[in-house]
Amino acid sequence: ARSDCSAPVFIRAPAFGDRLALIDQHGRHTYKDLYLRSLRLSREICQLRACADGDLREERVSLLCSNDVSFVVAQWAAWMSGGVAVPLYRKHPRAQLEYFIQDSRSSVVLAGPEHVELLSPVAQKLGVPLLPLPPTVYHGVAEDPEEGLVLERNWRDRGAMIIYTSGTTGRPKGVLSTHDNIRAVVTGLVHKWAWTKDDVILHVLPLHHVHGVVNKLLCPLWVGATCVMLPEFSAQLVWEKFLSSEAPQINVFMAVPTIYSKLMDYYDKHFTQPHVQDFVRAVCEEKIRLMVSGSAALPLPVLEKWKGITGHTLLERYGMTEIGMALSNPLTAARLPGSVGTPLPGVEVRIVSENPQKDSSPYLIHAEGSEENTKVTPGFEEKEGELLVRGPSVFREYWDKPEETKAAFTSDGWFKTGDTVVFKDGCYWIRGRTSVDIIKSGGYKVSALEVERLLLAHPSITDVAVIGVPDMTWGQRVTAVVTLQEGHSLSHRELKEWARPLVSAEASWPHTLCPRSCCWWRRSRGTRWGRSTSETSSGS
Ligand code: ATP
Ligand code: MG
Repeated sequence: ARSDCSAPVFIRAPAFGDRLALIDQHGRHTYKDLYLRSLRLSREICQLRACADGDLREERVSLLCSNDVSFVVAQWAAWMSGGVAVPLYRKHPRAQLEYFIQDSRSSVVLAGPEHVELLSPVAQKLGVPLLPLPPTVYHGVAEDPEEGLVLERNWRDRGAMIIYTSGTTGRPKGVLSTHDNIRAVVTGLVHKWAWTKDDVILHVLPLHHVHGVVNKLLCPLWVGATCVMLPEFSAQLVWEKFLSSEAPQINVFMAVPTIYSKLMDYYDKHFTQPHVQDFVRAVCEEKIRLMVSGSAALPLPVLEKWKGITGHTLLERYGMTEIGMALSNPLTAARLPGSVGTPLPGVEVRIVSENPQKDSSPYLIHAEGSEENTKVTPGFEEKEGELLVRGPSVFREYWDKPEETKAAFTSDGWFKTGDTVVFKDGCYWIRGRTSVDIIKSGGYKVSALEVERLLLAHPSITDVAVIGVPDMTWGQRVTAVVTLQEGHSLSHRELKEWARPLVSAEASWPHTLCPRSCCWWRRSRGTRWGRSTSETSSGS
């Protein structure tokens, strides 16, 4: 079963034995360590669930871990026991954690010791058992590598992970991907970006998104490479790691555009002397082989400035929780700035627009293709349309939401991304979203409707519209245009303090607050105004 390509990533681990899999705040961890600790934890999970045959049959296992070895072990243990891993994020407010655990109907919650206090009351309220991760997750192993692991299981279609994502309607939806979906993304990226066991990636992203968990963690673990994981992003630490001569030397990096902006702010402040700048450039050019940007559009000034500093043209790629990664620039051939390249191996894409006649097909197809081979319908060259995606990386379902799942696909099985694209100069270019209700801030997807719903609960606010305003660092700034109760006043700072415990990440706090009288906004977005409550609210 070990050499079987349909098997999940952890089954490859024993083959990498004493190779270094992970370096984190707790130390250095080999593949064998990770494998054995996961196996031990999986037995504890099965014991807790009184699961005699060692197969939870897709029961959901929520996990809240810091960015360290505990995450890998908890995720692998959930998989080894036949469960679906639901990664939670420590910065999510309690109500949101509760929603994820409840919505996924998790039958057990795993928590790192530092998160037990936060999760205990939640688990208690929901009546879900909480399993604090044992110290053996960080250190120490058992000796029996295979006992207890059911290798014959059919991994292919088995649910592996639920990642929650904001949509244009309702609460966040759980995107359920199978082991096969994840394997398709991983093997596509390993091939396209030429991953080898000698690679060393620096990991700084949250682990409840595809970017952090699949691209940056499961790719290196698939090939037997090493992942150096920071507890969280710090510009200073990233530069230190790039420039350090300590082994193993980082040679791969991936991040969202906001992180590249923050790294350049740090550079501007601290690396002012020419000889230091020469050193930075020489080290980056010599030792780093690949730097990737994704999760949001990479602003051209960021791309250009980064090239000036490090000599690297960032490799931009495009993906989405529901489809994994779909489009990527090439590793060795020229990368067109602003483009997201061509389909990854196994991915098929189409650019379509609604067909007003709808008689034969409801769509007009502008372009269609798979890896480096796109046919453009004559007369539709460089026409914008919605991107549709098909292939083994596309998710199985929105968890517990058959209607939404059905609505997300065309009748012939293509996933509708909601992103507007164009095919030009042999590449795909993302032009924006088909809906303004999703804001991309710091690489995070933020539902404008969710933030509006939240702000309407503020006692001084009578009406609100939330929009994304272009910003060089954040991609888009979450901007709230509000109407206040007669006689009330509200500062941006007060509102931020009020919202802080209610929203998940810094990226989704309202960055900017405008009074309704902002005329630029009324001109451009006037049609959306008044949707949330009444048109005739008082105040200004
Ligand atoms: P990713 O890291 O690719 O964003 P994710 O799991 O974070 O994966 P989502 O949070 O679902 O994905 O966000 C996907 C959306 O992000 C896409 O629909 C698209 O609008 C946007 N996006 C991702 N990559 C790019 C890019 N390179 N250029 C422009 N937009 C992008
Ligand atoms: Mg994202």
